[in-house]
Amino acid sequence: MRDKVCNHTMYGETEEELFANAKEHGIKEHGYIEETWQEEISKNLEHFKNLIKQV
Ligand SMILES: [Zn+2]
Repeated sequence: MRDKVCNHTMYGETEEELFANAKEHGIKEHGYIEETWQEEISKNLEHFKNLIKQV
């Protein structure tokens, strides 16, 4: 949970789907809960968006 680096690759048809997948992953694999995940996303939104690659 302290480690912000995650090397998993996540896919989504849309940005919404990608974020939903990332959230599910964060909760399952990184011990986030709904609230902490939302907090993390809002703090690092630009960072997350920069990680998104169009295929
Ligand atoms: Zn991960």
